[in-house]
Amino acid sequence: MPWYRKPQFSSLRPREPQESPQRVPDGLWHRCPACLSIIYARDFTDNLKVCPSCGFHEKLSSEERLAMLVDDGTFDECDANVSSIDALGFVDSKPYPERLAAMKKRSGLVDAVRCGTSEIGGQRVSLAVMDFAFVGGSMGSVVGEKVTRAIERAIELRIPMLTVVTSGGARMQESTYSLMQMAKTSAALARLDDARLPHIVILTNPSTAGVMASYGSLGDVIIAEPDALIGFAGPRVIEQTIRQKLPRGFQRSEFVKEHGFVDIVCERAHLRDTVITLLGLLRGPHQAGICAELPTGEEEEPIPAEERVAPQGKKRATKVKATTKKPAKRGSTQTKSSKKRVGAPRASR
Ligand SMILES: [Zn+2]
Repeated sequence: MPWYRKPQFSSLRPREPQESPQRVPDGLWHRCPACLSIIYARDFTDNLKVCPSCGFHEKLSSEERLAMLVDDGTFDECDANVSSIDALGFVDSKPYPERLAAMKKRSGLVDAVRCGTSEIGGQRVSLAVMDFAFVGGSMGSVVGEKVTRAIERAIELRIPMLTVVTSGGARMQESTYSLMQMAKTSAALARLDDARLPHIVILTNPSTAGVMASYGSLGDVIIAEPDALIGFAGPRVIEQTIRQKLPRGFQRSEFVKEHGFVDIVCERAHLRDTVITLLGLLRGPHQAGICAELPTGEEEEPIPAEERVAPQGKKRATKVKATTKKPAKRGSTQTKSSKKRVGAPRASR
């Protein structure tokens, strides 16, 4: 008998097929795209989808954003069924109605923004929360219309407006109709300003293009999450256009704040508390009940428009005089900007 047929070598025979080895169930672990560390998915969710190793802020859906931001059970959604139509008969790789239907099915959303009223720390606000999962959070006619209606609701109910932005820009499939929304939302925010109601904006990653060129940049206070991409055109497009190397951290929250475009860079864990504090500060002395000496029911006289534009009062003259003492190069711009940011209309409320 040849040696290779002896029974002691029988163990070399291929094994009988057994049950497949146990596999780790999908969705149990999360790999951080920034530092590549592996995190237990539940810990990651409990940490508001912020990487505990490097602090990377993962995108949140509108549902998750609402859950972390507003008081439980207070969100009252409005215009939930407003949906886009294909006014232009647009076809790219597939017809626009088909794309919309696929997006609705995949994301479970009707469009890229959810609006309504809610309470945050017991204070009622009108909300517009964008969702990147629906065509990259792009602004089409529905987004513009819903945001405008949310602003008008804020004016009607005399409550502050809060917008959470995440967007890749205007929706190209709706072409001019998308671009019109920039003017429409901006005009609505001008009316909100005339009504002397605050607009708080939260910029998340990414906040770019048409949305940033309209309501995304028109907040009385602009908050940004850390390391969020904020800008109009993307850094690669700018680099190719100007043919220069861009500085490190260009168009990121911290860089943008350093250059005066954003007021606060706030970690997600402190976002809700920051919004509550700001809402309290922006409500004004009458509503906040911190101006007890003023007789109740007596309104302050509104400041005439011409005085707001070109102040003639004694106090203002002193302020202008004081700033002109500074070097001429910076003095004029400082006076101008301080008037705009901390001007009379808001301070006197
Ligand atoms: Zn990380």
